[in-house]
Amino acid sequence: MSHLTQKDRAAIRQALEDQRNKLIKAMQSALEQSGQTQFAEVLGRASGDSADEALAITLGDISAARLEHEVRALQALENARLRLDDKDFGLCDDCGEKIPAARLVVNPVATRCVACQDHFEHTYAGQSHASI
Ligand SMILES: [Zn+2]
Repeated sequence: MSHLTQKDRAAIRQALEDQRNKLIKAMQSALEQSGQTQFAEVLGRASGDSADEALAITLGDISAARLEHEVRALQALENARLRLDDKDFGLCDDCGEKIPAARLVVNPVATRCVACQDHFEHTYAGQSHASI
């Protein structure tokens, strides 16, 4: 049984949609500024489930257009949206503890509790530093 109420999930879903729309707008204006209007147009049309396939194809092309960071963020939002109704959504990937609803509303793509995220970032930062 999930610790998230219907109301929590609705708030998280809303947060996901807001972040998705914001990200798509930011990508659109970046593409328009760089003259890649064909991608910007497809992104403008891509809303709702029916456009997901077109969006996926476009994202594949855009990642070649140096927007990898945004594309990854958008894919993380999509993954969170697909997982939102799973019974284990909102549980920490590492320790299995419940991630508070308030944290998920602020950061719907969070897959770890605060403690494990801190630990992960610390470990990851150490690794990436060492590899440079
Ligand atoms: Zn944890």
